[in-house]
Amino acid sequence: MYKFATAFFGFYSWHMLGVTVGYHRLLSHRSFSCNNKLVEYFWVLPGYLAFEGAPMWWATIHRAHHRYVDTPLDPHSPRNGLLHAWWGWIAKRHYPAHVNPTLQSKDLNKDPVYRFLDQDGDLLRAAGLVVGFNILFRTLILARFGWTIAAASLLAGCTAMQVPVMLNVLCHLPRLGYRNFDTEDDSVNIWWVALLAMGEGWHNNHHAAPGSARSGIKPSELDVSWLVIRGMEKIGLVSRVNDPICNAPAQSRIEEEAEFEEEAELEDELFWQTHLIPSAL
Ligand SMILES: [Zn+2]
Ligand SMILES: [Zn+2]
Repeated sequence: MYKFATAFFGFYSWHMLGVTVGYHRLLSHRSFSCNNKLVEYFWVLPGYLAFEGAPMWWATIHRAHHRYVDTPLDPHSPRNGLLHAWWGWIAKRHYPAHVNPTLQSKDLNKDPVYRFLDQDGDLLRAAGLVVGFNILFRTLILARFGWTIAAASLLAGCTAMQVPVMLNVLCHLPRLGYRNFDTEDDSVNIWWVALLAMGEGWHNNHHAAPGSARSGIKPSELDVSWLVIRGMEKIGLVSRVNDPICNAPAQSRIEEEAEFEEEAELEDELFWQTHLIPSAL
């Protein structure tokens, strides 16, 4: 039992950081740059092996979430139905009509690995690849380490897969958390979601400054993903780490975001660029 629990905790942390550091803060928001492409793949891999889906699909849907947050065009806002926000939006064969990875994820579309995993936008085929690689990975674990470790790995991957899905819903239900920023959406901070999701539960902070590599801003808001990114920066693996929340007064951050929104209404494509850090691409 001790062996199982230790393996579960290790795999869960690895997979969860793959989602938060790799899929979310790196690929979706480019909130920091990797000094070597292998470092990027190192963080994307555990997200992929937690059944998270193709990296380009994940990032493009997430960018659309920020672009259209809590409007009818938001891919998974609870305002458009709880069941849809939880699982309904995933059960689709193609991207929604207003979401286009070749336009909104040009940076990721240049990478042949991400293009291959996306399978030309055929989400069923892309999901088949995810399942195939995940089965292969657990089979290798089983062959090398035996049933206990393989079972812990599978359970940890499945558990980590559920957390972002749950976060999408719960962190957009105002009655469940608190807000540090008066953003124009329903996002809230929930402490226990932040613990489970390595810092991503500080979701209102995140919506106030999506391009920030840091989501926890108060001393009480533990952000494990931020600590990992800072650690990598200190040993020279990553650079251009974006931390605008703590380098500028909170109100000015909100005004900056509002300016981005205004620009986006004039030129939609500009939005996708302004919510990334051009120098990090
Ligand atoms: Zn959100
Ligand atoms: Zn985000």
